[in-house]
Amino acid sequence: MLPDSCEVVVVGAGNAAMCAALAAAEHEGVRVAVLERAPEEESGGNTRFTAGAIRCAYNGVDDLRQLMPDLTDEEVARTDFGTYTEDQFFDDMARVTENRTDPDLVELLVRRSYRTLLWLRSKGMRFAPIYGRQAFKVDGRFKFWGGLTVEAYGGGPGMIEAHKRAAQQRGIPIFYQANALSLLHDDDGVHGVKVRYQGKTRTIRCRAVVLAAGGFQANPEWRTRYLGPGWDLAKVRGTRFNTGDGIRMALEIGAGPCGNWSGCHAVGWDRNAPEFGDLAVGDGFQKHSYPFGIMLNARGERFVDEGADFRNYTYAKYGAVILSQPSQFAWQIFDRKVTHLLRDEYRIRQVTKVSADTLEALVAKLDDVNAAKALETIQQYNAAVRTNVPFNPNVKDGRGTQGLAVPKSNWANTIDEPPFEAYAVSCGITFTFGGLRITTDTQVVDTDGAPIPGLYAAGELVGGLFYFNYPGGTGLMSGAVFGRIAGDSAGRAARQA
Ligand SMILES: Cc1cc2nc3c(=O)[nH]c(=O)nc-3n(C[C@H](O)[C@H](O)[C@H](O)COP(=O)(O)OP(=O)(O)OC[C@H]3O[C@@H](n4cnc5c(N)ncnc54)[C@H](O)[C@@H]3O)c2cc1C
Repeated sequence: MLPDSCEVVVVGAGNAAMCAALAAAEHEGVRVAVLERAPEEESGGNTRFTAGAIRCAYNGVDDLRQLMPDLTDEEVARTDFGTYTEDQFFDDMARVTENRTDPDLVELLVRRSYRTLLWLRSKGMRFAPIYGRQAFKVDGRFKFWGGLTVEAYGGGPGMIEAHKRAAQQRGIPIFYQANALSLLHDDDGVHGVKVRYQGKTRTIRCRAVVLAAGGFQANPEWRTRYLGPGWDLAKVRGTRFNTGDGIRMALEIGAGPCGNWSGCHAVGWDRNAPEFGDLAVGDGFQKHSYPFGIMLNARGERFVDEGADFRNYTYAKYGAVILSQPSQFAWQIFDRKVTHLLRDEYRIRQVTKVSADTLEALVAKLDDVNAAKALETIQQYNAAVRTNVPFNPNVKDGRGTQGLAVPKSNWANTIDEPPFEAYAVSCGITFTFGGLRITTDTQVVDTDGAPIPGLYAAGELVGGLFYFNYPGGTGLMSGAVFGRIAGDSAGRAARQA
C-alpha cells in the first residue's frame, strides 16, 4: 500500500536512489518510501544496464583486499593492480572536463569514493576486479590500467539485486509503476510528492524528498532542445524511463539549472541496436575496442584519433563525434593481429559485423561507405604506422602514425593480416550532463542561490560534475557518493523537522 505520509520519499530506484534510501533509513524513526516509475521487470534505471564498473581511489592491493576479501593470494600474485590515488582521480576529472568540474562536488566524489564502496559492502554489496575489460595479460601477468579496477558482483543487475535485498532487510518499500509527477511545495519548502501509482493520482506527504530520477537522455524532445539538432536520432543505451522528470519537477518550483546542459555521455553503439536499451543485451551493443583499430565514416575517411588515450577517457565523447559524421555512423576496422584483444561485446549474437580475407573484399561489404576511398584510407594509414615502436595495450605505448591529417597516437597497428573484421556503430547516448545545482549536502539550490528546504538530489540529474567528457566508471561512483549524502541529509532534516 502506498502510504499517505512518511519521513523521506526517494524518487527513482537506480543506484543513487537506493543509496539515498539506505542512508536515510539509518536515521532512527525515519520511514522511507521509494517511488519507481518502471514496472518491476524494467526497474533499476540505467544502473541495471551497466557492467557495474565503478571508479574509486585506492592506494594499493591492501585497500582492494579490504573491499574484495574474496581476492585469492594466487590472483594477487598474478596481477599488477597498481594504485589509483585520490590525486590521480582528481587529475582525471580535471583533465577530461577541461577543468570545469565543480571543485566542491569533485572533492566529495574523490575523497569519499573508497569509503562509500566499503559502506556499500557493509550493506551486502560485493565487488570483484574487472579482469576481462580493464587488464590485459602481458608476459603471464595481468596489469590494470586507466584507473578502473572494481566492478559490482553480477554487474548492474547484481548491483540492483543487492540494493533490493538491502532495502527489503531494512523494511524500505519500493513502489513500482509509481510515476512521480510534481512536488508539493510552498514558501517553507517541499512537503511531498504527487504521484501516479498504478494509474491513480495520489499525494504522499513527507519531510524531505530525494530526487534521483536520472537525466533526460530518453526524451527526444529535450535532447533536441538542449543537445542540439541530430540528437533526436541518437539511440538510448539504457532505460526508457529517464525523461528528465526529476529535473523538470525541481525547475517547476524554482530550482536552478547547473552544468553542461548541451553535453552528454555518448558512445559508439551498434548501428542496428533498438531505440532504447535491451536488458537482455545490457551494455553489449557498445563497441569500445576502437583504440586497437581505425574508424571510417561514410566518405571512407578517418575522422578521430582512435588512440588518443585509454578508451576510458575517450569513449564517452566519441559518440558525439560519430553522431556528427554523415548519416551518423562509422565502421570500426580490425585485423587478425588484434582481434584477440576485442572486448566480449564484439562476440554477441546481435552484432553488425562483416569480415573478409582481403581488404578489397572487406571495403566492398561496408554498407553505405565509399569503398574506393576506404581502401585508400586504410593503405595510407598502414604506410603511416611507426612499426619500429613496440605495441603494448597496457600502457600508452606511443606507437602512433606519422604524417596523417588525422593522427592515431597510440596502439597503431597496420591492418594487413586477414581475416579482417568490421563493425558498424552509430551514436548511443548514455546520460545527460546538465542538471540541478546542489550544495555539498546535496540540497537543491534555487535560481537565487538559496537551498530549497526539504529537497535533495543525487545521480545523473545533478549538474556540475561532468563537462564535455567523463572518466569511465564515475557514474555509479557519483550516484553512490551523492546518493548516500542525500539520504543522510534528508534523514537528518526529517528528524529535525
Ligand atoms: C549501457 C550502460 C552502461 C553503463 N555502464 C556504466 C559502468 O559500467 N559504470 C558506471 O559508472 N556507469 C555506467 N553507466 C552510467 C550509469 O548507468 C549511470 O551513471 C548511473 O547508473 C546513474 O544512476 P542514477 O541512480 O542516477 O540513475 P538510474 O540508475 O537511471 O535511475 C533513475 C531511476 O529513476 C526512475 N524514474 C525516472 N523518472 C521517474 C519518475 N517520474 N518517477 C519515479 N521514478 C522515475 C527510473 O525508472 C530509474 O529507476 C552506464 C550506462 C548505460 C546506459
